[in-house]
Amino acid sequence: MITLEHYWMGRDVEYRDELTDEIERNARLTVERVNLLLRHIAAYGGLRAEHGPTTGNPVASGWRPAEINARVPAAVPDSPHIIGAACDLYDPRNALDDWCMSHLDVLERLGLWLEHPSYTNGWCHLQIVAPPCGNRVFDPWQAVRPHATKPEYRATGE
Ligand SMILES: [Zn+2]
Repeated sequence: MITLEHYWMGRDVEYRDELTDEIERNARLTVERVNLLLRHIAAYGGLRAEHGPTTGNPVASGWRPAEINARVPAAVPDSPHIIGAACDLYDPRNALDDWCMSHLDVLERLGLWLEHPSYTNGWCHLQIVAPPCGNRVFDPWQAVRPHATKPEYRATGE
């Protein structure tokens, strides 16, 4: 399970001025839906979210104020992490990604969208807002650079 505290990563204090009511509402919903998913995966898939070596909890990347997002390698400029609507879970063996890919009906029921696992080696990106393409599993760069080739991705989390 993850908590709002895990999700903020201390940035609710450090970036207090950027933390709006909207972001807070989104973050609560993100944490709630991710926890429903994790509960479901534990109950029916026998999988537990692992704790990240740097964060000490399952969140690899939570809220990102715009300034931080700009520094994250391979983060799209308008990432929903900025508005508190996306969460990366530590997923070193991509077990969560694999589970999600074969249970898209569960994601749909919970109101979650998944960044395609080919872009998230080592973590699992979930968001509570539909991507521009509308697909449950999406290419994060499609709307940004429709004709560009894939950038290099690294398993960094933050
Ligand atoms: Zn993400």
